[in-house]
Amino acid sequence: MARKPIIVGNWKMNKTIAETTAFVNAVDGKVSDKADWGIATPFTDLQAAKAAKNLIVAAEDMHWADHGAFTGNVSAAMLKELGVEWTIIGHSERRQMFGETDETVNAKIKQAIKNDIRVIVCVGESEAQYDAGETKDVVKNQTVAAFKDVEAADAAEIVIAYEPIWAIGTGKTATNEIAEDVCGYIRSVVKDLYGEDTAEKVRIQYGGSVKPEGLKALLEQPDIDGALVGGASLKEESYLAMVAAL
Ligand code: PGA
Repeated sequence: MARKPIIVGNWKMNKTIAETTAFVNAVDGKVSDKADWGIATPFTDLQAAKAAKNLIVAAEDMHWADHGAFTGNVSAAMLKELGVEWTIIGHSERRQMFGETDETVNAKIKQAIKNDIRVIVCVGESEAQYDAGETKDVVKNQTVAAFKDVEAADAAEIVIAYEPIWAIGTGKTATNEIAEDVCGYIRSVVKDLYGEDTAEKVRIQYGGSVKPEGLKALLEQPDIDGALVGGASLKEESYLAMVAAL
């Protein structure tokens, strides 16, 4: 089955509103229909980013509760009011620095589904886990936990981003062979959970030091349906180089 590639920039804690507007003005009119193109931005930039007509606009996180005493957090309803229809959940930086667990990832995914917000859920092993040969165990456990109590029709709409932590922001990319091996394995985990049909629909991204020049070969891997791109998504020229690369 042909899955349309999905390429999303993860801006992390970068860009002001003015910088977001400049980016959208430079990039939005130039993306192609060879992929779904998007940006995940800080909460403060979402409204400006929504001026884009051709870009998916995603939050980088959202809370699992409807509202309440969660200082510093943002709810699904708040995102919806801005017209935001996507969010990243479970990025490794949130897991490592902000207490995100497999349980909170699952709770947030269910909250997103309840509110019609599409999810990019991140999984991936640390360098120590990679060296110990634990990659597949780690991504399996994270994937199974993320999809707990999620129905097949909703699961098929979720994008899974495989991001080995040792490749994020380090310039050390996994080889296409490693990335394909793990993404194919993740698809087999989804198949075990939901069956072939759902597994064939789910889009799986690779993330970790993706650069425009490597993108085309990455996407030629049969189980890699896109990329979650940090550093190389920030500059307009670099983002447009990814568009040109396909
Ligand atoms: P990077 O970040 O492309 O800068 O490695 C990827 C990510 O963290 O999503």
